Amino acid sequence: NFRCRSAFKLLEIDDKFRLLQPGGSVVDCGAAPGAWSQVAVQRVNSAGTDPAAPHGTVVGIDLMNIPPLDGAHFLCSHDVTDPVTHAKLLELLPNRQAHVILSDMAPNASGFREMDHVKLITMCFSLIDLAEKILQPGGSLVCKYWDGISARELQEKLSNVFNTVQIIKPNASRKDSSERYFLARMYRKPVK
Ligand code: SAM
Repeated sequence: NFRCRSAFKLLEIDDKFRLLQPGGSVVDCGAAPGAWSQVAVQRVNSAGTDPAAPHGTVVGIDLMNIPPLDGAHFLCSHDVTDPVTHAKLLELLPNRQAHVILSDMAPNASGFREMDHVKLITMCFSLIDLAEKILQPGGSLVCKYWDGISARELQEKLSNVFNTVQIIKPNASRKDSSERYFLARMYRKPVK
């Protein structure tokens, strides 16, 4: 009983790559209605369902309202790209750090494929700034994008700060959509 079928995409990615471990801290960007957060809560044990395992942390962010979920803290009516949101995140995360940043964010599609593509890629660039503030060295990022001309540029920017970057098309993602996910692992903080 997930809030949305998108849960199956994250389950598939996490079954394969084991990003979400008990005790882990996760930031879920574009979290409404909360299905990815439901998966994250289960996997990091942030609701304490398994008393013997370490308890993790899940913080979800969305412009929209997200119905409450045991084990998750939601920043509703918050923009992921806003520094105010970043400051609140730092306060909510243990040691002011996350192990994993998830993003299933998407802008409202205009129907103009190229324009929507560029808009979403621009939102993904902002996740690299977010990572610099909150992602712990060695941490991971999963981010949704719509394939198109600027995808390569995003991949290069990710490769500058993550040791491995790969493209994932989950089986649960519609075959005829341009939706893809970057999985970036082993974060290194950029040297400035
Ligand atoms: N992963 C979610 C789930 O499983 O329930 C579904 C996410 S839905 C595909 C995309 C979400 O991104 C929308 O709810 C939208 O409001 C949100 N979004 C788009 N731009 C955003 C932004 N700048 N900041 C926060 N959320 C944003």
